Amino acid sequence: MKTLKRIVTIGILSAFTLGACSAPSSHSGVEGKFESIKNSDIQLRAFLQDMPKGGDLHNHLHGAVYAESWLDWAVEDGMCIDPQQRAITFPNGDGCGDFPTAKNALATDQGLRNEIIDMFSVRDFIPTTGWSGHDQFFRTFPLINAMPHRFGDMLADAANVAGEQNLGYLELLHTMELFETILPMVIATPMSGDVAADYDTLMSGPFGKALPEIIARAKANLDAAEIRKNEILACGTENAKPGCDVEIRFLHQPVRTLPPSVVYAHTIFGWHLMKEDSRFVGTNLVAPEDDFVALRDYKLHMAQIDYLYENLGERNVSLHAGELWLGLVHPKELRFHIHDAIKVGHAKRIGHGTDIVFETDYKNLLIYMAENEIMVEISLTSSDAILGIKGSAHPYEIYKAAGVPMAFSTDDEGVARIDITHEYMRAVKEHGVSYADLKTATYNSLKYAFVDAETKKKLIDSLDARFLVFESKF
Ligand SMILES: [Zn+2]
Repeated sequence: MKTLKRIVTIGILSAFTLGACSAPSSHSGVEGKFESIKNSDIQLRAFLQDMPKGGDLHNHLHGAVYAESWLDWAVEDGMCIDPQQRAITFPNGDGCGDFPTAKNALATDQGLRNEIIDMFSVRDFIPTTGWSGHDQFFRTFPLINAMPHRFGDMLADAANVAGEQNLGYLELLHTMELFETILPMVIATPMSGDVAADYDTLMSGPFGKALPEIIARAKANLDAAEIRKNEILACGTENAKPGCDVEIRFLHQPVRTLPPSVVYAHTIFGWHLMKEDSRFVGTNLVAPEDDFVALRDYKLHMAQIDYLYENLGERNVSLHAGELWLGLVHPKELRFHIHDAIKVGHAKRIGHGTDIVFETDYKNLLIYMAENEIMVEISLTSSDAILGIKGSAHPYEIYKAAGVPMAFSTDDEGVARIDITHEYMRAVKEHGVSYADLKTATYNSLKYAFVDAETKKKLIDSLDARFLVFESKF
């Protein structure tokens, strides 16, 4: 019965997809408006900007901030500029030493400012031999530094860009308590590869003992950041900015390119944090999936997550999986990442999933994803910038035909210099996505959010109300 239903559904979906580009002109109301303007870039932009949107479920907080904000904060905070690396650096006891202060370096040198903005993003970037979009994209992060109190400023930035586009919810990926706390505690701890034994090793050492204190500090830092964000956005006043209306939750974000003891300890920390602080609603591993450590340890990371899931209790997991392509890695790496993320790593959502058709037995995997409602977070600009995959090369149509739920997300809107509206536009222009399907995707971005049920209902009710107003205009 299920199979028959699926075949019928796939048939209908396929027909609908095929028909999407040549939609009949009999649409009326909002759909008629959409059909009449969808070939005009600027009218489509205006329409989609106003269109109510649910959530952005794949948005890295560090990647969300635009270069100009980092530079403003560097100037205000007495940070330094490394003119060779085009990087923001921290002052030390001598101030900036041989480097100019950001204030001096950026006061008059528009050229340097432009170069730094280009370095912190893919603005004006053209891939060349030996330097791909992937290289440029991931190169940006080590160049960017800010004082810890800017956490709240980052939240304000991301929330306001979202609010200005009628987006109701952000699930921000964020890394806390890693490089200065957990990493030095465990980097020299030997791991056996037996995830049960390694858990005991980590928990019986300095990391395990310090864990309550680490969790308390993370919570306090987030408390402070939220207060600062609300101040910056003037929330609760008559001058409240659009970002005040955006509900924010966080995904704990371990870095998969670090040594096994560091990834495991940080994941354990996240597991506890998610239990103790409801603002952390899930976890997701970050950093280039094609990095040699990330590839080497992929199955180990899945086993680590599985151990915590089975022994410490279930948590929400979304995983970057299949953000790979033929040529970038050995073909054997394309065969199992999405499968293992779901079947071993308990992923309820998949980030990107770009290489799905290279997976072993991908057709059955798609069926499993559709039946179990494993949602795919589609980030079209990111896939284009990092993997060079766009248009008909992107698996959007594959997922759609299989009935796998999808939602659109920005990934790193500051680095890519885009916003969520831009991603909806790409969906329309590159994949002929209809108004009805855009609406489904935007509801999916709340349906599959990890936020608690009560808040989710509130967000969906708000989206319903906003659509009522939006659609009544046509
Ligand atoms: Zn991502």
